[in-house]
Amino acid sequence: MRGDAYMDRVILIKYGELSTKKDNRNYFIRTLYQNICDKLASYEVEIDKDRARMTISFQEKDLEAIQNIISHIFGIHTYQVAYVVKSEDSCIQEQVLSIAKNLPFKTFKIEVKRSDKTFPIHSQDYNRVLGSLLLKNIENISVDVHHPDLWLKVEIRNQETYIYYESYPGSGGYPVGTQSRGMLMISGGIDSPVAGYLAMKRGITLDAVYFEAMPHTSIEARNKVIRLCKKLSQYSHHIYLHIVNFTPIQEEIYKNCREDYCITIMRRMMLRITEKLAKKNKCLVIVNGESIGQVASQTLDSISVINEATMMPIIRPVACFDKLEIMSIARKIDTYDISIIPYEDCCTVFVPKHPVIRPNLKTAMEEEEKFSYLPMIEEAVENVYTKKITDEKEQEFSELL
Ligand code: ATP
Ligand code: MG
Repeated sequence: MRGDAYMDRVILIKYGELSTKKDNRNYFIRTLYQNICDKLASYEVEIDKDRARMTISFQEKDLEAIQNIISHIFGIHTYQVAYVVKSEDSCIQEQVLSIAKNLPFKTFKIEVKRSDKTFPIHSQDYNRVLGSLLLKNIENISVDVHHPDLWLKVEIRNQETYIYYESYPGSGGYPVGTQSRGMLMISGGIDSPVAGYLAMKRGITLDAVYFEAMPHTSIEARNKVIRLCKKLSQYSHHIYLHIVNFTPIQEEIYKNCREDYCITIMRRMMLRITEKLAKKNKCLVIVNGESIGQVASQTLDSISVINEATMMPIIRPVACFDKLEIMSIARKIDTYDISIIPYEDCCTVFVPKHPVIRPNLKTAMEEEEKFSYLPMIEEAVENVYTKKITDEKEQEFSELL
């Protein structure tokens, strides 16, 4: 049993999709373990892992904060806050009764699991023992095995027994870091943070790139992107945000190229820069928030012409979602309210009246050859400004600028 510093409760973590990944199981569990250790580094905790689950001992005063952190970590299916007692009949009975006495309920069910087969009483028999205990000691209650108000679970293990009655959903997915790295193209909009969240949920570690066009775009627009990255970093360790000064390229595009092709060409330039930054930062894929048909630059024809500018795979997690579905995820992950703050994006500053809906690759290439973009791309990559973003509360906002 634990020392006095710990209360007699632990968090039990049940793994998510990991159970289906037999070959990689150990690697997944190790990564999840490391992610949990990193996220809880500033708390006094003791974390143990085995093939079936993890347990976290904590200081009672930290429970709420730790639960909040845990609920953002991918790779967790569900978790419970369980009371821990010695695996001895008298200790278990005492604790079960004490828990039940402090809860309001009319009907109940007891579910005993006995992974320690040396415990002398069989699960079914022990169900009855604990059930009678409650019926004898608490008035006006009855057993209901189908829809009980209180469903008390008792897991008897070697040394310790866990008792709990509430289960909380985890974020699911795979632990961040079980895949390689990806470069998220993040604008201040609704879609790209959701795309980033979904990519991280598959285990991808993200960097992010943001194109700004000062003075046409403002510092507030940048702050918005930083705040969005902070939200996303709750799901991973930290995010390196690469801020690209896109002004010179954008101005050249609008000076030299056909107006209806400006967005197509701008996107192609963004992809070229993103690819270079991705390679520099060991990212294997680009992630963006494109959703098919949403705007002129996201028709399949546009996507195809824009995509031609890079050989790197592009993951588009929200490609087939409609706006309402994307907005509902944005609300769930708490990025929505930041995304709708109205600041101009570099794409909205220079919007052509009639952007081409079915661009032609040959025309796009001819138009972009009208100015010498390669050295400008090199320069933009060289002068990128990179900021490490974490979700630590103490990291003051002003410090991020
Ligand atoms: P979002 O809500 O993500 O801004 P959107 O509907 O506004 O999406 P677009 O502005 O057409 O769509 O952008 C499509 C995708 O291109 C974005 O989701 C994002 O991945 C990328 N993107 C657009 N603007 C920028 C930018 N300024 N910096 C980095 N990436 C960008
Ligand atoms: Mg946008």
